[in-house]
Amino acid sequence: MGDARIIDGKALAAEVRARIAVAAADLKTKHGFTPGLAVVLVGENPASQVYVRSKKKQTVETGMASFDHTLPAETAEEELLALVDRLNADPEVHGILVQLPLPDQIDADKVLERIDPAKDVDGFHPMNAGRLSTGQPALVPCTPVGSVLLAKQARPDLTGLEAVVIGRSNIVGKPVAQLLLQENCTVTIAHSRTRDLPGVTRRADLVIAAVGRPEMVRRDWIKPGATVIDVGINRIEADGGKSRLVGDVAFDEAAEVAGAITPVPGGVGPMTIACLLRNTVQAACAIEGVALPEV
Ligand code: NAD
Repeated sequence: MGDARIIDGKALAAEVRARIAVAAADLKTKHGFTPGLAVVLVGENPASQVYVRSKKKQTVETGMASFDHTLPAETAEEELLALVDRLNADPEVHGILVQLPLPDQIDADKVLERIDPAKDVDGFHPMNAGRLSTGQPALVPCTPVGSVLLAKQARPDLTGLEAVVIGRSNIVGKPVAQLLLQENCTVTIAHSRTRDLPGVTRRADLVIAAVGRPEMVRRDWIKPGATVIDVGINRIEADGGKSRLVGDVAFDEAAEVAGAITPVPGGVGPMTIACLLRNTVQAACAIEGVALPEV
């Protein structure tokens, strides 16, 4: 491995959670409410089950209220929409998260648009996406927020940096690009049709890889000293029939050239749930009409 600084996502996530726990306790004693997060899981996707379990656990550990709704895979769209309506109307619920992917019979866009934008802690509602892109206060998707917080661990001021985001999804690529614009980066969004991706990426002072292709970003794609944030989570076969997680960046190679880099696991992953809890506190304060504590 080279000289790159390893940006520790687990440590930063623990710091964020500690601040949230203090804020949640304060809101309870000073304002008489507990931020509450409802998590809706439809079906039995194993990755979603693991993810939802961690969200619930961390919600409770930070002193917030967790409301669980697990529905069978054959749930009709109307039934899920009716649940969203009930959660929208429930005063104890400040954040609503419908775990994706949803089964085929359900139109995910329709469900996401049914969530009250004020309770949309995933930040996927078009209202929040529009607010983010027009620079208004918004609930911003969690993984992009976490990625930018990690980049700022290495470079507290991102102003003027050449940033290349690889991936243009609504969940990661586009919102992270919007956040980087707000941080005054010069932003390029690269994707599957980009010509000479290595050449484009090599220009970047900051690379954010959100592709879903194991170890695609190689050593010679990285400008010496660049900050590399690896959003990808890919399970690949390892020796002895086991499997292991790798990112979209060939970590050992990239670490020889980069100035700072996030590992997988232990980088962006832990930050995502921490930022979800942060969004829940933000939503709760806005709904209850109290000032947002420093989280
Ligand atoms: P997605 O499949 O929706 O989007 C992938 C993007 O990559 C697309 O925009 C596509 O244009 C681009 N792409 C595909 N092949 C490419 C290629 N060969 N060259 C350049 N670009 C290419 O995926 P997503 O939801 O944005 O997630 C991306 C990755 O991030 C996945 O590995 C996912 O598991 C991971 N992820 C991690 C977290 C986390 O908490 N750390 C959260 C969300 C997603």
